[in-house]
Amino acid sequence: MLATARGDASTMWPRRADDGALADAFLRVKGYASRRGEDVRRLWLNVGCPRVEDDRRSLSGVEGRRAFAHVMHLPSAVCVARGAAALPLQVKLGLLVHEVGHLIGGPGEDDADIAALEVLGLRVEYFGPLRLERLRREDVRKVMGW
Ligand SMILES: [Zn+2]
Repeated sequence: MLATARGDASTMWPRRADDGALADAFLRVKGYASRRGEDVRRLWLNVGCPRVEDDRRSLSGVEGRRAFAHVMHLPSAVCVARGAAALPLQVKLGLLVHEVGHLIGGPGEDDADIAALEVLGLRVEYFGPLRLERLRREDVRKVMGW
């Protein structure tokens, strides 16, 4: 049922204290998607992916500063930078939902958000100078089960 050797529970376990916040947000997104009928069992979170961390350093300006996550790198993985742990919950969830949207909808940025909206019922918004993703408060409540 798990796609890769990396998909075992140990990859989810916080490897540093901050990783717990990302792992928890990811589990909430998976749980929510699962309740919506999506088979997301294979999805796993790759915290501190070296390629994401490298993008943050090497991409210039806004592109580098907003590079917190990607998919399509390792099978069924959502890769996130460690720094994403410090983002507000609304933003962490927006980021993760957008990336899961890619896994459902494909590589196009619009396709990811359309999948998030049409398949998961979650609207990904963009805000601020970095155009970071975030979820609306009502969608945060839906995902978190509040
Ligand atoms: Zn990666």
